[in-house]
Order: sequence, then structure tokens, then C-alpha cells
Amino acid sequence: MTTMQAAVFHGVGPGVVVEEVPRPAPGPGEVLVEVAACGLCGTDLHYLLGEAATAKPPPIILGHEVSGIVRELGAGATGVPVGTRVLVPPVLPCGSCRLCRSGRENICSRLRMVGNHTDGGFAEFLVAPVRDVVPLPAELPLAESSVIADALSTPFHAVVNRARVQPGEWVAIVGCGGLGTGALQFAKLAGAHVIAIDLNPERLERARSLGAAVTLNPQETDVPKEVRKITNGGADVAMEVVGSPATFTTALATVRRGGRLCVVGYSDQAAPLPLGRLMFFEEEIVGSLGCRPTDYSVIVELVRQGRVRLEPMVTGRVGLDELGKAVESLRAGRGLRTLVVPRAAGSVLG
Ligand SMILES: [Zn+2]
Ligand SMILES: [Zn+2]
Repeated sequence: MTTMQAAVFHGVGPGVVVEEVPRPAPGPGEVLVEVAACGLCGTDLHYLLGEAATAKPPPIILGHEVSGIVRELGAGATGVPVGTRVLVPPVLPCGSCRLCRSGRENICSRLRMVGNHTDGGFAEFLVAPVRDVVPLPAELPLAESSVIADALSTPFHAVVNRARVQPGEWVAIVGCGGLGTGALQFAKLAGAHVIAIDLNPERLERARSLGAAVTLNPQETDVPKEVRKITNGGADVAMEVVGSPATFTTALATVRRGGRLCVVGYSDQAAPLPLGRLMFFEEEIVGSLGCRPTDYSVIVELVRQGRVRLEPMVTGRVGLDELGKAVESLRAGRGLRTLVVPRAAGSVLG
């Protein structure tokens, strides 16, 4: 039996253990991908801390932000030859439900998620359906491209398809971690003026370097008041990229009459909603989840053209055995994306 190294999550108590496990074999319509890198994400943190349960109970290999190289084809898998550099999207839609057929595959009613329903990318290899993988052009750095899988695709869909950011608009981004930094890049690209909001001065500094017009720290200033002053009435769009009732309330309070709030952060809690304001001011609140399969090729092209940058998103790299260290750093709010680079794949990174 061929084996591989994997960081296996055994549940909250025992945690993650690096061990030798059977290498998966691609089933019909699947490909075997050698993992070049897999990003560690806040969603993984929810599972690791027991704040959310994985659909496949532990033991499970987490990780859903994968780039790598196709090494084997399952029966009937065509169109992506062995050796192709690919991105593995986090969400695997069914392709046939009503939502999939109306182009909303990201909220497919039968969707499966890598590293949640199936074993993910904190391993040397994983299998994925051939129809879902996205080929990556040679110009893109392979390991860094893993940030496209979620850290860039989620804010792309939020900014472009859901918040529908227009040239000249003021966009207030509440939360400047990985997703917020991605949202900043796409809002700038859409021609918007960005106000970046975060408690962490380091993140605000990074936001400034990526083109935020203004940065605000809620510890130092009354954010909604300041945004209204700067924008002469309020932001056209607010992006909530933290996922808490408090930041939701702050984000909504920054929006002008007729403005839009896009909720990208996850929380299982309820937030109060001023219904009168919503009605009188015709404010819109939309949610946003992941992205549609069709969005990936657009994002890949934007990266290839150098109009969206991968490097500022990558703030660390660790081997499988250092996953715990990366988790601690994520919990502490340091950095944006740490890439987990499985050892054997190091050779393909060049
Ligand atoms: Zn993620
Ligand atoms: Zn579906």
C-alpha cells in the first residue's frame, strides 16, 4: 500500500497528529493532486477549536485552500492531463440542483467542501473531481496561488457580484485580515475609494500599503462618525469581514442612505437590525459565500496580469509538523495566510 504524510485532525481533545496514512486513489472522474501548498484559514480554526463540526467526523484531514500538480487520473477523468498545475476549489457543487443550474453553485443545496466533507490539503496528496479543478498558467507561482482558492475568491465574489462595487464609490471594509485584504484589492480594482477598519495597527499599515485611502482604528476613533465625515454622509458600501454582532452593527452604521452592506464574516449569533433605518433609507444587506466556479478563471487572469497580488497575502510557510504553530499565530491574529507546505511537495516548488 502506498502511504503519505498527513496532518490528521482527531477531534478537539487529541488535536492534530502528523502520521503516515494510505495515499488516496482517484475514483471515477477524480484526479490525484500532489499538494504544493494549502492555506490555513479561519474556517479550519472553527473546526480545530470545536466551534463548528466537520461534516465528516474526525479523523479527517482539514485544509481547503489547495494548489498542486495532477499526478494521476481516475477512470474517465479527462481534460486535465497528468502534470497540470491546478487550484482545487474549496467547494464542490453538485452541478444539478436548482441553484447550481441558475449559476449559484457556491450556495448549492448539496455542496460538499474539501477538508470538511472530504479529506483536505494538509497532506502530501488529495483527490478532487476533475471537473472542479482550475488549471493555473505557468506565470503564476504554484504555492502562492493557493490563496486564490479562498482568500482571494471569497472577497472577489463579495465585492464584484454581491456588493456590486462601482467606480468612485466609498467602500468601508471592517476587518483587514486575509479576506479583508483581498476585499481591499478588488474594491481598488473596481475603482472604489477604500476606508480600512481594524483594531490591529499592523493590518492597517498593510492596508495603507495596498492603497487604502483612509485607515481607522475603533480603539482610537468613533468609526461610523468618522466615516460619515470623510464620505460626506456615509460609505456607499460596507463590507463586514469579521463575523460578530458588534462589527455587523459598526459596518451597518457606516453606510449612507441607500447604501449596501455585504456580510462576508461568519457568526452563529444574532445581531439587532434597525428596521426603520432599513425601510426609510432603502439600505440593502446581502450575504456572500465563497465564489462561483466561473469566477476562478477571472481571478487567475487578474493575478496573471499583475493587477491582483498574491505575495502580500502570504505571511508564513510551515511544514505539516508545524501546523500547530501556524494555528497559534492565526489565533493571535498575526499575519494573513500561512501556507502549509507538505514536505515531499517541497521538491516541486523549486
Ligand atoms: Zn478558507
Ligand atoms: Zn447543486
